[in-house]
Amino acid sequence: MRNFPIHYAKGRKLFHIIVHMSDAPGSMSAILDGLGKRVNFIGMTSYSLSDGTAMLTAFAESLSPTETPERLKAVLVRLSANLEADVREGVDGLLVDTFHTGIRVGDDDYILMRREGLARVYDYIVKIFGTGGEVLLYEQGKALGKDNAQRRVKELGVENVVSDSSYLGRALTAQGWGVVESTTKPESKEVRITVADCFECSGAERVRKGCDFYRGFWEGSAEVTRGKQPVVKEIECRLRGSKACVFQISTA
Ligand SMILES: [Zn+2]
Repeated sequence: MRNFPIHYAKGRKLFHIIVHMSDAPGSMSAILDGLGKRVNFIGMTSYSLSDGTAMLTAFAESLSPTETPERLKAVLVRLSANLEADVREGVDGLLVDTFHTGIRVGDDDYILMRREGLARVYDYIVKIFGTGGEVLLYEQGKALGKDNAQRRVKELGVENVVSDSSYLGRALTAQGWGVVESTTKPESKEVRITVADCFECSGAERVRKGCDFYRGFWEGSAEVTRGKQPVVKEIECRLRGSKACVFQISTA
């Protein structure tokens, strides 16, 4: 998935195009056609609003060095699909989304951060606090895992969360947590989760020995959905030379 809170293209003239559009069929293509001869789209997002209308916001590069936000806005105002339009110009090849004030996923507010930056934060915690830092990360992961699972259970019901757990894991993948795949052995109560390209060890220094936050996360999740005290071990980790992180969840 690509998100566009910021874009840099040295020497280019960049615009953020924000259109509140009607729900009539073909609205989006009418807007893209209307602007297509004047800009090259870098990326865009569209979403429906509760009143049935929709928003289209796009980062675009001008095809002409003399283009202005006013002229692009004038093109939009002439289109019947447009209800309200705003065009904001970048500065020195830099374009920042100054329209949105957060990220909405379903009914929840999210934040974005650089995954390597987060791995670095975890490195610092363990550098400063040693094994106490590892426990701290594990407890934080567990708290988040519990909270997330309770949120999903409230939304989908515990039976769906349990039966669709491996499918739900793909939502973490889409959010950049790593490629999550789980397998359950029908004859045992053990679940194995493989996380390829795990965020917790992405770009991390080798000060840590494992993904304690993620281990706690699975434990908190399993505690809510299985109703029993699970034991989670990270049996393989990239920080210990493996290709992927593998977590083993067993419940008594
Ligand atoms: Zn790991």
